[in-house]
Amino acid sequence: MKEIFDLTDQVAIVTGGARGIGKAIALGLANFGANIVIADISLREAEQTAGEIEKLGRKAIVVKVDVTKKREIDKMVRKTIQHFRKIDILVNNAGILKTAEPENISEADWDKVMAINLKGYFLCAQAVGREMIKRKQGKIINIASIAGEIAFAQAAAYNSSKGGVILLTESLGCDWAKHNIRVNAIAPGVIETAMTKDFLANKKFLEMVKVKVPLSRAGKPEEIAGAAIFLASKASSYMTGNVINIDGGWTTIL
Ligand code: NAP
Repeated sequence: MKEIFDLTDQVAIVTGGARGIGKAIALGLANFGANIVIADISLREAEQTAGEIEKLGRKAIVVKVDVTKKREIDKMVRKTIQHFRKIDILVNNAGILKTAEPENISEADWDKVMAINLKGYFLCAQAVGREMIKRKQGKIINIASIAGEIAFAQAAAYNSSKGGVILLTESLGCDWAKHNIRVNAIAPGVIETAMTKDFLANKKFLEMVKVKVPLSRAGKPEEIAGAAIFLASKASSYMTGNVINIDGGWTTIL
């Protein structure tokens, strides 16, 4: 039974894999046998993460990419194919959060959030998907958020982008099932990363998390990795277009 989670010699691209949730997923996939492409805008942390993957006995390369730029995404795909000859798994994870009252969100901030969190996911899925279609196989995992299902305060752009990621997951899952490409999403609740550091340092916010979340705490990046291993492996072979919430129970209560 254990072999249904096996990822030996599979090749995974993890965008935003340098740190946070992306890093935890990259290490998780590597632990189950995958070789990893850390595709990130920040090189220093990416190199560090690649080093940690190599210590596990897997291969890892770093590719600098801004997921809003199609040319850079195409280069990421080319480099991956040159180095590893194939792509089995794409984890769309690079994302940003900007908060403001809706009446104060600048057009530039709205565009930036949408460009990275939604258009970037689509462009990466399209470029990698074209390679997966040739091989008639692949798994795409989109890191959405429970903010794509219920609204977080002062996060209209972020919420909208993550809601878009969920419908993008359903669309791609539906259209690419015929190519044997499975597309699923993970929707985390509040996870302790650089993105949430300032929020979690705020006593009021932390109290709100403790009250709203049945497990009464924020999650850790490693607690997202198991679902990514599951979605990347045969263990999830009858899933596509689906979303797994990992939120300590937040979205299950009124
Ligand atoms: P994080 O610690 O800020 O990591 C995000 C990574 O993505 C960073 O290395 C960042 O590099 C990189 N990145 C940002 N813009 C990029 C771009 N244009 N191209 C390529 N890479 C880029 O964030 P995280 O908390 O791990 O979040 C990862 C994903 O999970 C995001 O999609 C986020 O929305 C989602 N999520 C997070 C939480 C949470 O509570 N943390 C909850 C739900 C969903 P730089 O910092 O150098 O820009």
